Formats: sequence, C-alpha cells, structure tokens
Amino acid sequence: MPRKALRFETTEEGCFVCTSHKTNPDGYFRKNFNGVSKMFHRVMWKHHHGEIPEGMEIDHLCKNRACCNVKHLRVLERSYHKVITNQTRYLERFQKAKQYWQDNKPTGVELGRLFGVTHSCGSYWIRQWKSELN
Ligand SMILES: [Zn+2]
Repeated sequence: MPRKALRFETTEEGCFVCTSHKTNPDGYFRKNFNGVSKMFHRVMWKHHHGEIPEGMEIDHLCKNRACCNVKHLRVLERSYHKVITNQTRYLERFQKAKQYWQDNKPTGVELGRLFGVTHSCGSYWIRQWKSELN
C-alpha cells in the first residue's frame, strides 16, 4: 500500500502544520522514519541547523506544538524549557482564576478545587488580588 503523502499548510500565524496526518494526542506531530517515530519539528530543526545538542530541547515560539516552521522554533536548555512552560501554564491558570474570583468571589478552598491548586495556594492568590485593590 502506498504511503499517504505528507501535506502541510501554513496558517495565518505562519505556522507550518501537517494536514494529511493527525498529530498525537499531546499535540506534537510525529512521523515514522524507518520504523522510528520522530517528532517532526525536531526533524525539521536538524535538517536546517544540524544536531540538537545534548540536554537541549526545541521550543515552539508560537506555542503551537503541531507547528513545523523552523522560524518558529528555538533551541532551549531542557531545564529552562520546563521552567518557562510551567510558568506559562501557571500564569494562564492564575489569570483565569482571577477572573473567576472577580466574578464569583469564591473561597480559597473553592478556588483551589476549581483550578487544581492547593487551598493554601488559592487563599494566597486571593490575598494577592485583594491587596491589588487597595
Ligand atoms: Zn508556528
């Protein structure tokens, strides 16, 4: 059976995404190379820039994991990558929680339960937001 041809499309943001094959549930697009499944954006990076140095990871500047546009990729130290990814996630959650708090005035416990943080973290956030109002 012939293999399905790879087809890519460029989004409005300039992201280069595969439209012929599905991305993995984690959002990354992987492709089989001689029986080895590889993350396609890493393959693209290597093709343009050479080997990825040990301990380094490829980060998407556009935050679109499916994107394979080398211009949207940068190489980062693995430990640093983890930190900024967690910070972004934390910040998003923090901002959503703040919005929810402004609209509904939940307790720290409720906030913790709704946003997947401990109740002390929820209470800490609330104290912070209250102090911003003063
Ligand atoms: Zn992109």
